[in-house]
Amino acid sequence: MESTGAEPVPADGHVHTEWSWDAPTGSMRRSCARARELGLPAVVFSDHADFTPWTTAPDGRRRVIGGHAATGLLDVAGYLDEVRWCRERYPDLRILTGVELGEPHLFPDDTARVLRQGGFDRIVGSVHCLPVGGDLVYSPLLMDSDPLDVVRRHLAETALMVTRCDVFEVLAHLDLPVLFWPADRPPFDPHALRDEYAAVLEPLAAGGRVLEVNTAGPWPSAPVLRWWREHGGTAVSFGSDAHDPADLGRGFPEAMAWARASGFRPGRTPADHWVRD
Ligand SMILES: [Zn+2]
Ligand SMILES: [Zn+2]
Repeated sequence: MESTGAEPVPADGHVHTEWSWDAPTGSMRRSCARARELGLPAVVFSDHADFTPWTTAPDGRRRVIGGHAATGLLDVAGYLDEVRWCRERYPDLRILTGVELGEPHLFPDDTARVLRQGGFDRIVGSVHCLPVGGDLVYSPLLMDSDPLDVVRRHLAETALMVTRCDVFEVLAHLDLPVLFWPADRPPFDPHALRDEYAAVLEPLAAGGRVLEVNTAGPWPSAPVLRWWREHGGTAVSFGSDAHDPADLGRGFPEAMAWARASGFRPGRTPADHWVRD
């Protein structure tokens, strides 16, 4: 992979493997091989632990947990066995264990159980779903009606997660539904939700936590990294959110340039989070 200038490529802090219910072509072993090819210093296998099937949108579309996992819950023992195998096979790649928790603030007991089992190096917190009636619905499925309101509600739910749950270090894909903004509407303007972003970024910064630059979106929206710094944010991580080994490290040169321009620089070692200038 090309880095920007002499800058080393950072760790890929958000990678899914076959241990994620929604990654049928994921592979921890091939992801390690790919990370080596790309010259990544480290990789975090942040497989999903979701505690709800992602349920029906009002128009009947569904996104439900399936694949090898009956429930979406991570098979922690199997996952850790595979990490051990990969660490032996790839001793010069730094392999961090991780988990991406879906709505952990709504499932504190389940979350605690997974974390006790895992002893993870890196814990990522995510909002994917919004409460609708008695269900949780994947927020991109709600974008047809009032997309600005969906993004507003997504940010409000994320603020709840940040303030009510301190078990995660990295906040993933902050404004996830924005990528699904309807093409026939005027473009999304993050300034319209400046206060809602602040309600997430302020407590996240106050807790010394990390905002993810997720290159699958990319997320967050363009001005938000700068806002993160203005609110006192001290660190950013980079994550491809790859669900297939081919996507590891995607978009990292652009993301690094963006983080640089927003006032962040590489940490002490290439595997560390980037820090505030
Ligand atoms: Zn996610
Ligand atoms: Zn993910």
